Amino acid sequence: MPWYILPPLFEPNSSEHPVRLIPSKVFMTDKKHMRRDTLTTHAGRDPQSHAGLVNMPVYRGSTVLFRDVETYENRDPNNFKSMRYGVHGTPTTFALEDAIAQLEGGHAAVALPSGLAAIVVALVPFAKQGAHILVVDSVYGPARNFCEKRLKPFGVEIEYYDPLIGGAIAKLIRPNTTAVYCEAPGSLTFEMQDLPAIAAGAHAKDIPVIADNTWGTPYFFHSFEHGVDISVHAGTKYIVGHSDALMGLVVTTEKYWLPVRRAVADYGYCVSPDDCYLALRGLRTIGVRMRHQQQSALTVARWLQSRPEVLRVLYPALENDPGHALWKRDFTGAASLFGVVLKPVVDDAVADMIDELKLFGIGSSWGGFESLCIRANPAKGRTATKWSPGGPLIRIHIGLEDTADLIADLEQAFKRLTA
Ligand SMILES: *Cc1c(COP(=O)(O)O)cnc(C)c1O
Repeated sequence: MPWYILPPLFEPNSSEHPVRLIPSKVFMTDKKHMRRDTLTTHAGRDPQSHAGLVNMPVYRGSTVLFRDVETYENRDPNNFKSMRYGVHGTPTTFALEDAIAQLEGGHAAVALPSGLAAIVVALVPFAKQGAHILVVDSVYGPARNFCEKRLKPFGVEIEYYDPLIGGAIAKLIRPNTTAVYCEAPGSLTFEMQDLPAIAAGAHAKDIPVIADNTWGTPYFFHSFEHGVDISVHAGTKYIVGHSDALMGLVVTTEKYWLPVRRAVADYGYCVSPDDCYLALRGLRTIGVRMRHQQQSALTVARWLQSRPEVLRVLYPALENDPGHALWKRDFTGAASLFGVVLKPVVDDAVADMIDELKLFGIGSSWGGFESLCIRANPAKGRTATKWSPGGPLIRIHIGLEDTADLIADLEQAFKRLTA
């Protein structure tokens, strides 16, 4: 054995090991033993193999050394969960990927440097020349941009469809259709999609369903129980949860694992183990954060509904939202992100109102611990359906602040709408 292969600090399986086996080890093979909050606490941890440390350490590295030439030359190109080369991940990456896959109920997950990169690798395995891909009209803007600027020029036909289409998706499927892309609720406009109905239509023709589950998160929406084959996440949002790292994740069924994972390798995408560590750290508290932020979001959303300045609040968690029944059927909770359609006001009044807010930041992203508010205009991004809500739209993210302070802040800023 070369001098640099040192004996491990503790033999993981020896009876002398000072750390007892933790439940995640015991139940790793039977996920049904653990409920969501137990999984977020225990999945992706293995203190026995890491000198007893509670958290998976940050394993940095590019080169991985092999025992001999034969082992090096016979490494399995399809085993993406083994130590081969830093670009394919280290134990820190695998810990995050395994925790997310277990929580959402998929076969396996892969980490990407951003949510948009996750969208790209979910789509490209199905983007052959002459292929036809169905994409929801309420899709996240940069995903639509990728389809327009990067897939269409290579001869992929992109057809946008009504978010409310449900089972009628079957009528749009052609012999060359290769995938159906969904997002529930829609970016900025928050229409709910009937994912099981869409999946039934697509699966009848053996076509996979890709869904952006950033809003639902692996915590509040278990994609694979509702017919999704490939689930995409901007881990940047609630999984990281602290506005300090970018992260993408794709979770798949067994059937689509290698097509997606090979695309990640072919593009050379890889993620810093430090960022995987931050995402794992965020994941540990996703349950308490999201339940609390959901309650706060409902409080603020209901207050907004009672205001004379507000035409409509777009939030499936509200009882009178058109998507409420679908949300209640399929989701176990709601993100703290919603839209607010204001009554028509003079030009610039909305910008003045947002500028007047003291506690809400103005900026991209969401899912952190802090509240945000931006102006949005989804109408220009729609082609299959018309978006005309009757007034200007703002998007609000509710963080962990006290709701009384947030409401007082909104109340004082609303004065600018009529000033
Ligand atoms: C933010 C977001 C993304 C992209 O995530 P990034 O990490 O910012 O690239 C994808 N989908 C949805 C719905 C998002 O809100």
